[in-house]
Amino acid sequence: MPEAYDSAAVATTFDADALDLAALEEAHSSGAYFKRDLTIVRGQGARLFDAEGRSYIDCASGQGSSNLGHGHPAVLAALRAQMDEIMVCPEMFHNPVRARYQAALCNAAQMPRVFLCNSGAEANEAAIKFARLATGRTGIVSTMRGFHGRTMGALSTTWEKTYREPFAPLIPDVTFVPYNNLERLSAAVTDETAAIILEPVQGEGGVHPAQEGYLQAAQALAYERGALLIVDEVQTGFGRTGALFAHEHDRIRPDLLTVAKSMGGGIPMGACLIGERVGAMTPASHGSTFGGNPLACAGGLAVLETLANSDLIGRARDLGARLMDHFRAHLPEGTVREVRGRGLMIGIELRGKVAPVLRELQTRGVIALPAGSTVLRLLPPLVIEEDDLWRAAAIVEEVLRNAA
Ligand SMILES: *Cc1c(COP(=O)(O)O)cnc(C)c1O
Repeated sequence: MPEAYDSAAVATTFDADALDLAALEEAHSSGAYFKRDLTIVRGQGARLFDAEGRSYIDCASGQGSSNLGHGHPAVLAALRAQMDEIMVCPEMFHNPVRARYQAALCNAAQMPRVFLCNSGAEANEAAIKFARLATGRTGIVSTMRGFHGRTMGALSTTWEKTYREPFAPLIPDVTFVPYNNLERLSAAVTDETAAIILEPVQGEGGVHPAQEGYLQAAQALAYERGALLIVDEVQTGFGRTGALFAHEHDRIRPDLLTVAKSMGGGIPMGACLIGERVGAMTPASHGSTFGGNPLACAGGLAVLETLANSDLIGRARDLGARLMDHFRAHLPEGTVREVRGRGLMIGIELRGKVAPVLRELQTRGVIALPAGSTVLRLLPPLVIEEDDLWRAAAIVEEVLRNAA
């Protein structure tokens, strides 16, 4: 044990060059992540830059957390201004930026109330707790391939066994049904079901959009059985699919709507919006120290204003549709099983593994994501220049041709 805080040892970490730092990170990080052999130091719009100044086209948006791209001027200006006022202000006090943001978000989602937190998993934790409180029931019906986060409650509703099983026992009374299968959903929802939880487009599970009518039928079923409908828009929210929220495509009203990722413009933030059937929570029933902090609220407000005052959402719908048509017409059938998605949330299901494809894309200057082991997922920032988008598409096409 060192006798005191060793400032000399810490100083060496500031002097290390980029290669040393990657090794240092390997040595000290938890080990919980697969890491790519790439150090990102800067981002601008839909471009990422590595330590050598090489530029990459970003088709990952920080796992979907920067729909407005990196360094959006409206977000930066709002954050800088807010930093000069105050950054932390727990919800025991009122705060004007939070007041404005909550109203703006509730208006945008057409839901009366909101609980603010700091991540997607936390948003789903809140939704599960609120659903139990509001219904007095404990059952949750989730979907196969569904992803709702990694904390114990949210994890309980996440399908992937390798995420879940090492941590059993999780919270009880969660059942999984196949996505887009109404009969199985109907059979699973009973008078002990507190809520059905669904993504309008399954993200991590392979980019599977809800079929026409599925979400509406899920909502009708929830109403009929006295259960609530939780819609998880952590990944699909804030314009990603060509609507502010993806459930707007299906014209439904969630009882609980969870959001995070892109909501704070890059500042960690999450929320659980609360519908009329749920109503207000009782004081002290839930809480979060950083939830609703003014810095995140200022970022969130800039995101909502930017989306409202630009055509980024319509552009995402249009560009996404064109890109998917292009892929369907041009990607080689020998390597590609299916192209699916909504707006700029696109999944390309491969016949083989996605990992080597991702490595080759990175070598050629395109950063993309997997969604499971065989789906290539593209989530470019909505601000991506058309030139960059089509350049990335051409590189994807080339790499998949060569993979045949
Ligand atoms: C990413 C994601 C989450 C978890 O969000 P975190 O901020 O990583 O906790 C939950 N649900 C969906 C649909 C997601 O895509």
